[in-house]
Amino acid sequence: MNPLHISNRDRAIKELKTQKFDLFIIGGGITGAGIALDAASRGLKVGLVEMQDFSAGTSSRSTKLIHGGLRYLKNLELGLVMETGRERAVLHQNAPHLVHPEKMLLPIIKGGQLGRFSTNLALMVYDRLAGVQKKDKKKMLSKAKILELQPGLDQEKIIGGAIYSEYRTDDSRLTISTLKKAVELGAIVLNYMEAVDLVKKNDKVIGLQVKDAFTQEKFQIQAKMVINASGPWVDNFRIHDQSLDNKRLHLTKGIHLVVSNEKLKIMQACYMEIDDKRMIFAIPREDKVYIGTTDTDYVGEKSSPSTDKDDVAYLLKGINSIFPTAKIVSKDVLSHWAGLRPLITQKGKKNTEISRKDEIFISPSGLISIAGGKLTAYRKMAERTVDIACQQLGIKETSKTKDLPLSGAGKKETLEPEFSDFCCLFEQADYWRSHLWTRYGLDCVNVMENYYGMRKNTHREENLLKAEFKYCVENEACHGVFDFFLNRNALILFNPEVVEKHFQEILDYSQELLGLSSFSI
Ligand code: FAD
Repeated sequence: MNPLHISNRDRAIKELKTQKFDLFIIGGGITGAGIALDAASRGLKVGLVEMQDFSAGTSSRSTKLIHGGLRYLKNLELGLVMETGRERAVLHQNAPHLVHPEKMLLPIIKGGQLGRFSTNLALMVYDRLAGVQKKDKKKMLSKAKILELQPGLDQEKIIGGAIYSEYRTDDSRLTISTLKKAVELGAIVLNYMEAVDLVKKNDKVIGLQVKDAFTQEKFQIQAKMVINASGPWVDNFRIHDQSLDNKRLHLTKGIHLVVSNEKLKIMQACYMEIDDKRMIFAIPREDKVYIGTTDTDYVGEKSSPSTDKDDVAYLLKGINSIFPTAKIVSKDVLSHWAGLRPLITQKGKKNTEISRKDEIFISPSGLISIAGGKLTAYRKMAERTVDIACQQLGIKETSKTKDLPLSGAGKKETLEPEFSDFCCLFEQADYWRSHLWTRYGLDCVNVMENYYGMRKNTHREENLLKAEFKYCVENEACHGVFDFFLNRNALILFNPEVVEKHFQEILDYSQELLGLSSFSI
């Protein structure tokens, strides 16, 4: 039984009610997904609930980089840089369709914080800590070369620069592929299911009470161990558990803006210092570019933090100061998103100085909470957390995720020539080839099958979206158009034109497939 097939939801709920789990996880972001996969890879009976859609918290709202965190070197966080730097290659190996090498251009600005000497030294240490292969090591570049590689940069400001290696990803897809793999290994995971309370006996956690967002039904789940991986919400359960101590969450907000690559012609990803000495990214994705990010204190509603006018003005001022001819104004912004960093407070430190390292809290009741950390380090964070859980459960199995391919991983050639023939059916064949491959990898074969098996209408692009939607409903617990366009394929952010064109047809189709009641949330 695949709990990610929408029609199996009732059976999956029955399992939650009747089984006793070794490990049960609160939160279906990348941290929870990683823990579910790690535990399932060791043969543990594991379950997970997510109160919104999978990845709808911070794990769909990041800069979408698998990076070692060059700027953490400034805070001398060598251990963090080493771990995240080395994880990049592991994630690329385990999910090559989702984690792509990306050259990052780093211009050096006159009067800026980074000089030629310090940049050279920092990148050398970065490459060394991350174990970067010789061919991918950083290169220092002259002003002329930087301007040749990236026309449009301010000639007056740039004095030189460097190019170095990073990886980019799709954070939601990485989360969902990790969950799919966990399910393949026996995990039961459900979205739109909120953990509302801990169940205790003799002051020890023995399970959870959950509430189904569709039916409002509440029921209990039995578990030997509960892991709180609820990101920005992590302190809620530490409060429930009366185990909140001096170390608590400090939320900061970061926003991103999407513009067309005609407005901002970016040849490769750029990491740039702006006038207030902060660093921002401009990253190409399909035919768009996204710019980010900010780092401001946040208090308020956590499910849907907003992008304020001031955030937009700040980023536009920053990008226009480096690309003076781009003259981007707010009406050029096609879409945007805001996310919350669940950082752990450190008194007296500025937001940019607070460590991005994760921390694991074990309370006297046995509740394990994990907070902080990076998307990039999620596999190692999960390994550490499950190691602790296994120690407490007296289980000796070790993690198997280092060489475990995620769902959809594999060589594109194995889909050929059928995949290329298929993509050629569509007007923008290259665009759709990249769209499908970078989201589903080898699972594209199922989208193709859906397409060929469908009643055809004249609009091929619309049929393709329907085939993709059907795949997501039957394999990824997609409950409607918003889950689809936001967290399954992010078209709302990176191709709002296509969403606008086909929204009504996909809405009608979703109602045909799921029934009207699915749209109550
Ligand atoms: P979340 O993704 O927030 O997941 C927690 C989940 O728990 C949520 O989905 C929530 O709905 C659920 N939940 C909460 N309460 C309950 C409950 N009671 N019952 C059930 N479910 C519940 N890292 C990188 O490596 N690279 C980057 O480029 C990068 N860029 C970033 C940019 C920004 C602006 C931000 C904010 C972060 C960035 N990060 C980056 C960090 C990274 O995104 C986070 O560390 C990571 O996504 C956190 O994942 P998580 O699973 O811990 O939290």
